[in-house]
Amino acid sequence: METARTELSDLGEFGLIDHIQKKIKLNNDTSILGIGDDGAVISSKGSSIISTDLLLEGVHFDLSYCPLKHLGYKAAVVNFSDIYAMNAFPEQLLISLGVSNRFSVEAVDELYSGILLACERYGVDLIGGDTSSSQNGLVISATAFGQVKEGTEVRRSTAKEKELICVTGDLGAAYIGLQILNREKRVFKENPNIQPNLEGYDYVVERQLKPEAQKELIHWLSENEIRPTAMIDVSDGLASEILHLCQSSKKGASIYIDKLPIDQETFRVAEELNLDPITCALNGGEDYELLFTIAQKDFEKVQNQSNISVIGHIMDEGSGANVISQGGQQIPLQAQGWNAFLKKDLDK
Ligand code: ADP
Ligand code: MG
Repeated sequence: METARTELSDLGEFGLIDHIQKKIKLNNDTSILGIGDDGAVISSKGSSIISTDLLLEGVHFDLSYCPLKHLGYKAAVVNFSDIYAMNAFPEQLLISLGVSNRFSVEAVDELYSGILLACERYGVDLIGGDTSSSQNGLVISATAFGQVKEGTEVRRSTAKEKELICVTGDLGAAYIGLQILNREKRVFKENPNIQPNLEGYDYVVERQLKPEAQKELIHWLSENEIRPTAMIDVSDGLASEILHLCQSSKKGASIYIDKLPIDQETFRVAEELNLDPITCALNGGEDYELLFTIAQKDFEKVQNQSNISVIGHIMDEGSGANVISQGGQQIPLQAQGWNAFLKKDLDK
C-alpha cells in the first residue's frame, strides 16, 4: 500500500512546529505557557527536578527494527524514568530534534504520536523544543521537568548500612529482546524474503521496544508512607546501578542471586541464545525498573508486593559490593555493565 509522503521542506521548520502544536493541549496546572513563544513558562510549588537524555541513531536506536512511534514513546518514557527515580512526578517535556530530509512529515508525525501517547499516559505536557535539519542520522534530545515536595527528593547518595535493597519488576528482558531483534535483522539481511519471526518473544521484544517507567511505585510509596532512603533507575544494568548507588553512598552491598527477579520468557530465550540469564539480569540494560533502599522497619510493607523484590542489603564500604550465589559463594560485582559503547561490541 502506498502511503502519502509530504516532504519536510514543503512545510518548513515553522510549518512543522505549527503542525505539532495543533495536537497539543496542556493539562497540568504547573504548565503556564507551552509551544509558541521564545520560552515556555512553568510554575513550581516545591522543588523542581530536571533531567535530559540524548538519543542518537546508530548509537542508541536502530530504525531498521524500531518503529518511529515506539522510538518516540521510549524517548519520552526513559526521561520520565529519571524523574521517578528522584521520587518525583514528571509534568513537562521538551523535545529537540535533528532530522534529515530522509524523513517525511508523516514520519515525524509517527514519532510525535509515540511521544504524545507517552505524555498522555504519564500525565506530562509537551511544552516545547527545538528543530534543526541534520546531515545524517536522527537526533532526539528529551528534557523532562518534575515536581516534588521540597526536601522529599530521593538521591543515590543516602543509603545506610543494613538497609534493604529492593527492585521493581523483573530484569534482563530488554537486553534479551535486543538480541532477538538483532538476530532477526541478520537473518533478514542475508535473505530479505524471510520475514522476521518474533512469535514466542512478545514479552522480551516489548520490553526492548516499549519500555515503561515506574510511575505506580512512586504513588504506592507515598500512599504507604515509605520514603526510600536512596534510589536510582535501572538503565545500564543492575550491577552498574548498584555500584553507582554504593559509590555515591560510600557503602557496600550484598545481592543474593536467587532473589533476582527474572521473567520465565527471559529465562527460556536466554538459554535458547546460549546466554546466562543471571548475567543478563545483572548486566543487561534498559530495564527501566527502580532500584531503591528502605529502612528495615519497612520490610513488612514491601514483603507481599508482587512487583517488588528484596534482593539484598547495604553493607559497610569495606565489604565492597558482592553477589552471593546459592551456595554462599561471594563474587565481587563487576562494573562491566551495559553501556552505549559496550553495546556496540556485543552487537557484532
Ligand atoms: P527560537 O527560534 O526562539 O528557538 P523556535 O522557532 O525554534 O524558536 O521555536 C518556536 C516554538 O516552537 C518554541 O515554543 C519551541 O519550544 C517550539 N518548538 C520548536 N521545535 C519543537 C519541537 N521539535 N517539538 C516541540 N516544540 C518545538
Ligand atoms: Mg529554536
